[in-house]
Amino acid sequence: MLERCLGVRRVRQIQRAVRHSTVTFLCLFLTVVVLRGTIGAGKFGTPEQDFNEIRGHLYSRGRRVEPHRVLEEAQPDSESDQSNNYATFDISKILVDEEPEEKPDPNKPYSLGPKISDWDERRAEWLKNNPDFPNFIRPNKPRVLLVTGSSPKPCENPVGDHYLLKSIKNKIDYCRLHGIEVFYNMALLDAEMAGFWAKLPLIRKLLLSHPEIEFLWWMDSDAMFTDMAFEVPWERYKDHNFVMHGWNEMVYDEKNWIGLNTGSFLLRNCQWSLDLLDAWAPMGPKGKIRDEAGKILTRELKGRPVFEADDQSAMVYLLMKGRSTWGDKVYLENAYYLHGYWGILVDRYEEMIENYHPGLGDHRWPLVTHFVGCKPCGKFGDYPVERCLRQMDRAYNFGDNQILQIYGFTHKSLASRRVKRVRNETSNPLEVKDELGLLHPAFKAVKVSTAS
Ligand code: UDP
Ligand code: MN
Repeated sequence: MLERCLGVRRVRQIQRAVRHSTVTFLCLFLTVVVLRGTIGAGKFGTPEQDFNEIRGHLYSRGRRVEPHRVLEEAQPDSESDQSNNYATFDISKILVDEEPEEKPDPNKPYSLGPKISDWDERRAEWLKNNPDFPNFIRPNKPRVLLVTGSSPKPCENPVGDHYLLKSIKNKIDYCRLHGIEVFYNMALLDAEMAGFWAKLPLIRKLLLSHPEIEFLWWMDSDAMFTDMAFEVPWERYKDHNFVMHGWNEMVYDEKNWIGLNTGSFLLRNCQWSLDLLDAWAPMGPKGKIRDEAGKILTRELKGRPVFEADDQSAMVYLLMKGRSTWGDKVYLENAYYLHGYWGILVDRYEEMIENYHPGLGDHRWPLVTHFVGCKPCGKFGDYPVERCLRQMDRAYNFGDNQILQIYGFTHKSLASRRVKRVRNETSNPLEVKDELGLLHPAFKAVKVSTAS
C-alpha cells in the first residue's frame, strides 16, 4: 500500500534511513552504557546527575573537591583503618629483607678484595688515556670526592633521619662552594664490616672505580661543616697520603685512643692507600674477631673503654706499632679543625661571631664540628639526647647562616629554624656582592684553557 502511495524508490529510501538510524541509536546507547561503567553515573542516573557526576569526576583529577569523597577519606569505615595515616604507619611492615644474611666462613681470612699491587702504574696509564678527567682541576686543586653515608635502615627515631638530612644538606652546601663531588652511601657493601667499619670496603671500591679522584674525603654523618669559607690547604699535603686531625705525641708517644679522629680524613688515591686499607681492616669483621681485637686495643691504648674494636682505635694502634711503615706519609693536622669535637666548640659560637669571621677553620671558626658519641640515628648515645640535638641545631644554623647570608638572609638565632632578611631586595641583583665572597669563590673557579 505504501509502495503504491509513495512509489517503490521512495519506500526503499525510507527503509534505508530507518536502518541507519537504528545503528546510530544502538551506537549511542552503547556509548552511554560504557561511559556509565567507566566514569560512573551515580545511583539515580538522571541526565542532570550524570552530568554532575562526570564533571565532578573529571575535576577531581586535578583537585579533590567532591564533599562525599573527602568525607569518605576522612572518616574510615572502622577506627582501625588508618591506612592513609603516615604518622601511625609501622615502617617495619615494608622493611623486609628478601634473603637471610650469608654467614661468612670463619676459617677464611678476611680480605677487602683481590690483591692489587700496581695501582699507581695502572692509574697513571688511565689518567694519560683520559685527559678529560684530570686528577687536578688546577695546580694545587686536586679533584676531591667527599664520601659519607648512613645505615640502610631508618633511624631508631624519625628525628634521627631529619638530622641526617640536615647534615647532608650542610655537606652539599660546602662541597658546591668548593668544587667537591659528593657520594652518599646507604648500602652495606660487606656485611662483615657493618657499623663504623663500613667505610673501609666503600672507600676501596670508590678509589678503584674513580682513578680521576686524587683525594677522597671521608666524613661521618654526624659531622657538619661550620666554616663554609675555609679551603683545605692542599699544597701542604703534597708529600702525604693520609690526613687526619690529631697529634703526633698523643698517637706515637702516649698511644692515646683519642690521639687522632677518623670521623673526617683525606686519603690520596694511590697504592699506599690500598695497602693501608688492607692493614687497617683485619680487626673489623664483626663477631669474635672484632670482640677479641677490642680487648687488645683496650689493653694497649691509653684511655680506651672496654668495647669491640673500632676503626679509630685500630688506626692509632696501627700507627703506633708501625710508625716506620706508615708514619712518613701520614699527616696529623691540628692547625685547623679537619675534625672538631663538638663539646668544646658549640657553646662558643656566639663568641666566635662576635670576634672572628669564617675562613679561619681553627678554634676561632672551626671547619668541622663533629658530634662524636651523640649517635642521633641510633638507640643510645653517650650524651643526653636533648643536649645533642640542641647543639646539632646550633652547629647546623651556624654553618647555614654563612650560606643564607649569600642570599641576604640569616637565622633569627642559632637556635631558630626561622630566618630574617639582612639585606634589602635590589633591582640590580648582579651587582650584589656577598660579604664573604662565597657567591663566586675563587677556589671554585674553573680555569678554562685558552689554547684553541
Ligand atoms: N655509618 C655508615 N653506615 C652504617 C653505620 C654508620 O656509613 O651502617 C657511618 C656514619 O656516617 C657514621 C660513621 O659511620 O657517622 C661513624 O659512626 P658514628 O659517627 O656513630 O661514630 P662516632 O663518631 O660517634 O664515634
Ligand atoms: Mn661520628
